[in-house]
Amino acid sequence: MGSWLETPDGWTGRMFQVVICLMIASVPVAQSWSKEGHVLTCRIAQDLLEPEAVGAIKNLLPDYADGDLSSLCSWPDQVRHWFKYRWMNSLHFIDTPDLACTFDYARDCKNDKCVAGGISNFTSQLLHYREGTSDRRYNMTEALLFLSHFMGDIHQPMHVGFTSDEGGNTIQVHWFKRKSNLHHVWDRDIILTTLADFYNRDMRIFQQDLQTNFTKGIWDDDISSWGDCHDLFSCPTKYATESISLACKWGYKGVHQGDTLADDYFSSRMPIVAKRIAQGGVRLAMFLNRVFGEHNQQITGPI
Ligand SMILES: [Zn+2]
Repeated sequence: MGSWLETPDGWTGRMFQVVICLMIASVPVAQSWSKEGHVLTCRIAQDLLEPEAVGAIKNLLPDYADGDLSSLCSWPDQVRHWFKYRWMNSLHFIDTPDLACTFDYARDCKNDKCVAGGISNFTSQLLHYREGTSDRRYNMTEALLFLSHFMGDIHQPMHVGFTSDEGGNTIQVHWFKRKSNLHHVWDRDIILTTLADFYNRDMRIFQQDLQTNFTKGIWDDDISSWGDCHDLFSCPTKYATESISLACKWGYKGVHQGDTLADDYFSSRMPIVAKRIAQGGVRLAMFLNRVFGEHNQQITGPI
């Protein structure tokens, strides 16, 4: 696994910071369309980090991020069309055979080029962090940002969708009165409607509600099982399998080209989106705690 990620990297950390600054300066003020889900996933993860992971992340992030992982969690979407990163486009999602409703790594993730492969490869790279910073094969800062971002993507059910409709991208719908498509409904529209209808557009309050749900609310029975992962390199397959199953049961179900999706769709799907964001956060924290923490010793990676 992984030769495709072993890019000789001439970037120094400072260069990386400069490029990120330039990139942020050139991004329009409007948020990228999937930013909210990624920010929430990363904030939830950050609150669950153990001290070793907190320290490693602070060390790897550029100074201006001030240790806040969520501030750069959607960076991989922002550079997706840059020449240097264009080859990574397929790492944001998985195409599965139409109507199969299953994920098969060998069938759907050839050469590790899918979001499950991306998570495994960047996890492998980050495992080198504790060996010291002398390993120049990898840019650890980028690896951290890509792992954090892809852990969000793999939990978005429509990121593991059918091939012919590109994960719902070609299924045109109206979200209430606005034009959208099924993929965007799950990426952003449900989250924005939730924020507007219930949280006065305040992501912090939404985040607190998600956290309350898994600490002493409706998900507190589930949370220990969310973090169950015997082998970090096979768990992404489990997450992708959950996503395509949810995509079939809730994403695609009952939706046809040109439909208007409104209250019924929103109220039944919103809890699923909320739970997937929370699961992504809990599992990202588990990965980072194990990669940067003492558990690291027990992980047998593919490299
Ligand atoms: Zn993405």
